[in-house]
Amino acid sequence: RDPESQSILDAHEWLSKLYHHLLRNSKEGQEAYQYLLERGFTEETIIRHRLGYSPSSNDFVVTFLEKKGFHPQTMVKAGLLNTNEQGEYFDRFRGRIMFPLRNHLGKTVAFAGRATGSFEPKYLNSPETDLFHKGRLLYNFDLARASIRKQNTIILFEGYADVISADQAGIPNGIGTMGTSVSDIQAQLIKRYADKVIICYDGDNAGIEAAVKAAKLLKKTGCQTNVARLPNGMDPDDFIKEYGGERFKREVLDASDPYTSFIIRYLRRGFNLQLEGDRITYIENVLQEVAQLDRAIEREHYLNELAEEFQMSIVTLKEEVEQHRYRKT
Ligand code: ATP
Ligand code: MN
Ligand code: MN
Ligand code: MN
Repeated sequence: RDPESQSILDAHEWLSKLYHHLLRNSKEGQEAYQYLLERGFTEETIIRHRLGYSPSSNDFVVTFLEKKGFHPQTMVKAGLLNTNEQGEYFDRFRGRIMFPLRNHLGKTVAFAGRATGSFEPKYLNSPETDLFHKGRLLYNFDLARASIRKQNTIILFEGYADVISADQAGIPNGIGTMGTSVSDIQAQLIKRYADKVIICYDGDNAGIEAAVKAAKLLKKTGCQTNVARLPNGMDPDDFIKEYGGERFKREVLDASDPYTSFIIRYLRRGFNLQLEGDRITYIENVLQEVAQLDRAIEREHYLNELAEEFQMSIVTLKEEVEQHRYRKT
């Protein structure tokens, strides 16, 4: 490893410990600590995920890193410090709850800082470095790895809080992205480590749209892809805190829809099925989805549903699907 990368790793290790210490022991961190407890995170969880607090000072980290002998220009590259027009260094993360972003080896390579109040942005991430690429990292993968292997399943969440909340509630195989949509590389990684993925995004429009994109990408990798549904306006963390982990498992994860069901339900939203034109386009769309299914019994299942709902003959629908399949190959 080159000296600069090593130095960036070391600085993150020191700082994650310091931030964690400040959250639990400093006067200024107390409010943030209290906030986390009130949100239902336990002390054990705060320790396990090494959550921290960055003081609101401009030069707290500057001074700390300088004392440890780190080169400030390297620390700017690392995303831990910023510079102003006068060329002075100042702390990048100020007055935020700190989530260390660890790579698959458990090394902290970046941070996400959450504002404690309603400050914008709500989350501030480290910039990309040689050690941190948003599109390649799977948040919490290092801790989740063993249970992912055992269960052969990955739960994909939208937010750090969702991953941590699930972990605390006895669902340790959850991972997250860095607030971005799933990249090709992340989809490939997910497929490499598990045959099944359950997408569990927020129960709002943004969450549903993001789930559609993620589902298509993951399905393409050959991963068995399910999508969970959350009550309107709730995210997984909200649900778990309100109803507990057991209900979350039963009513959200176990009740998740297989890819095709999810897409069909999603397609429906765009059409007024009272109108003949819409109805036909909708049916066409569903048939296209069904045509992608490899197993005949699966195709039959969805065609039966369609035939029943729209009083059509299964023979006609099958014929259409076979034509789609023929065109595909
Ligand atoms: P919380 O429960 O603490 O409010 P959340 O995870 O529910 O957090 P969301 O608004 O649902 O927050 O956002 C989901 C994820 O998107 C966050 O965990 C974070 O990774 C990312 N994110 C949210 N807001 C921002 C932002 N302003 N800038 C960058 N990333 C963001
Ligand atoms: Mn969201
Ligand atoms: Mn959310
Ligand atoms: Mn949330």
